[in-house]
Parts: sequence; C-alpha cells; structure tokens
Amino acid sequence: MPIDPTLPYDDNNIFAKILRDEIPSNRVYEDEWAIAFHDINPQAEIHVLVIPRGRWVSWDDFSARAEAEEVAGFIRAVGNVARQLGLVEPGYRLLANIGQNGGQEVPHLHVHLFGGQALGRMIA
Ligand code: AMP
Repeated sequence: MPIDPTLPYDDNNIFAKILRDEIPSNRVYEDEWAIAFHDINPQAEIHVLVIPRGRWVSWDDFSARAEAEEVAGFIRAVGNVARQLGLVEPGYRLLANIGQNGGQEVPHLHVHLFGGQALGRMIA
C-alpha cells in the first residue's frame, strides 16, 4: 500500500531498522550521510537503494526541510554509489517514488538506482 508522504516520520519503518542494523541488508556503500543496499526484489540487473541516514519520509520532506549540507551529502552519495558500481560509462537510472501516485511503499526517503542493462524509455 502506498504511504501518505505528509505523515510524520515513523522510526519503525523497515529502512530505519536497516539503518540500525536490526534487520539485515546487503550493503554496497556507506558514508556520513547515506547508506546503499541491494533491493530485495530487484527490477533490473542492478537495483540498489540509496537512503539518507536522516529521518526523512520522502523527497518532498527532504527537499523542503533538510539542511543544505545534508542535501549535498546525500546527492553526492548517490553519485558515489553509481561510480563505485561502475555504472557511469554504461549509464544508469535514478527514481524516487513519492506518495500515492508515485507508489511509495516505504516511508523513508530512498532513491532507486537501476543499471547493468539497457533500461528502455522512462515509464514502462
Ligand atoms: P518504493 O515503492 O519506492 O517505496 O520502493 C520500496 C522498495 O523497497 C521496493 O523496491 C522493495 O523491493 C524494497 N524493499 C522492501 N523491503 C526491503 C528490504 N528489507 N531490503 C531491501 N529492499 C527492500
């Protein structure tokens, strides 16, 4: 079920638990601002989720309220993950789902990073 992105942050969401290492994940990257791990239900050859360490429900919440340093740190982390995975030259895709129409299911900001194959045009 898609989430309401205007609700307050829920510390019991699944990505909060992954951040606290209360449930396992296959991490591929971490720094001061973000962690990245493989999506449990991959939609492409490479499907990684990049999430900020901060308590942000969605891209809307984050872009409206996060400090500039954290916004920059998170965006740089997304780029670092793609470079580390060798995806720059072959190319990749970023996607952030927000709320009902976006189909957002986990109420902690995450950017999907897809790669490892030709991804076609935009929305299937
Ligand atoms: P979204 O629809 O943008 O909220 O995407 C949520 C994503 O989280 C989906 O692609 C799920 O497959 C993924 N996901 C849910 N639980 C886990 C988990 N425990 N570990 C890794 N990925 C997960």
